[in-house]
Amino acid sequence: MSYQNYSLKQLQQIDASHHLHPFTDHKELREAGSRIITRADGPYIYDSEGNELLDGMAGLWCVAVGYGRDELADAAYKQMKELPYYNSFFKCSTPTPVLLSQKLVEIAPEGISQVFYGSSGSEANDTAVRLVRHYWALEGKPEKNCIISRKNAYHGSTVAGTSLGGMEAMHKQLGGAVPNIVHVMMPYAYELALPGESDHDFGLRAAKAVEDAILEAGADKVAAFIGEPIMGAGGVKIPPMSYWPEVERICRKYDVLLMLDEVITGYGRTGEWFAAQSFGVRPDTITTAKALTSGYQPLSALLVGDRIASTLVEKGGEFAHGYTYSGHPVACAVALANIDIIAREGLVERVKNDTGPYFAQALGERIADHPLVGEVRSFGLMGAIEIVKDKATKERFSPSGSAAVVVRDHAIDNGMMMRATGDTMILSPPLIWTRDTIDMACRRIRKALDLAE
Ligand code: PLP
Repeated sequence: MSYQNYSLKQLQQIDASHHLHPFTDHKELREAGSRIITRADGPYIYDSEGNELLDGMAGLWCVAVGYGRDELADAAYKQMKELPYYNSFFKCSTPTPVLLSQKLVEIAPEGISQVFYGSSGSEANDTAVRLVRHYWALEGKPEKNCIISRKNAYHGSTVAGTSLGGMEAMHKQLGGAVPNIVHVMMPYAYELALPGESDHDFGLRAAKAVEDAILEAGADKVAAFIGEPIMGAGGVKIPPMSYWPEVERICRKYDVLLMLDEVITGYGRTGEWFAAQSFGVRPDTITTAKALTSGYQPLSALLVGDRIASTLVEKGGEFAHGYTYSGHPVACAVALANIDIIAREGLVERVKNDTGPYFAQALGERIADHPLVGEVRSFGLMGAIEIVKDKATKERFSPSGSAAVVVRDHAIDNGMMMRATGDTMILSPPLIWTRDTIDMACRRIRKALDLAE
């Protein structure tokens, strides 16, 4: 049955009546109606009315290689015809997760040796929580099970993902978090640095919050620290370069495992395959998803370091954990083809040496001076624009987020799909963006800001 037999109004009515959306006020949705996206090509998405929008979010931080890649559709089609599904349970395997695991270990930071698959970033983080707690139990320290995370972090929407995350609105609706997770300050200099404090010193102070939490809980009780290398959903909060190496030093000092959530930053967004490489750290686990398949199939991969992997294999017996779709053959075939495109087209190097620096320069020269903009920041192809009422005092509009939503709506009306989270406009474009695409985005964003003023 084709959706083309339905009018937009009909689709919107059915959508509002029967489709519960993620992170959506459904009463509002019923009044406004959804924008129905029907197709996409390269860096553009198109809605049911034929409007073209430059996709500044790569879907939802996913579509690294852009839309309309026949190669990925072909890989899925070929695999579906040959073997659409078989599981990796009970001493079975299928070829594509085997080959994908080899590939991921090859491009991952040093020390990663095994991969566990799921279908979403949330599932991968659930796996990571179970795995690190299980690791310490196998090492004879079951009481070492506290996990330190950060305020405003986003680690997914499952019960464990929400508990790990530090978003107040999500915790309010949780009705009981997974125990033994504590949250420390985030490395967000724009709001949290002290007057006169250098970026470097702020990074060290934010890392010290991790040490304080370890000491408060007792090192013998702390299993791991988890963080997004750059907070994404929380507003593209980029830590000072001093932060991650110091966090790693603290983790090693107290024998606390280091878990990175690279669901957004993995696979080239920061100008390296993984942000761990951009920040010079060697984590014990890395959660990845999204750009692993450029969103063409749902797939997550938890990359597991030697230390945990060898204990699990040598002392673990059966790890009583897994998903029906762990190592799904079609999703893994698409991931292999996607990684091949990223490598062949040199997208990681392009972000590092060309589009990433150009993006930073363009935001700095063409957006930062706008009266509504408190700060612009970016790392690779991840960017943020802080919306303020007063540039000098950093005063925000009230209620929080109200002005950013207005800017976002003007951006969308002017052909620029981007997202507002709190008072922050965020960008996470496909890695295929060129200098010309960045120019186009800046023109449209500037116009949206002017209209919102
Ligand atoms: N971790 C991070 C850093 C994310 O940004 C997200 C989703 O945006 C997740 C985990 C959850 O991934 P998923 O929505 O695929 O469950």
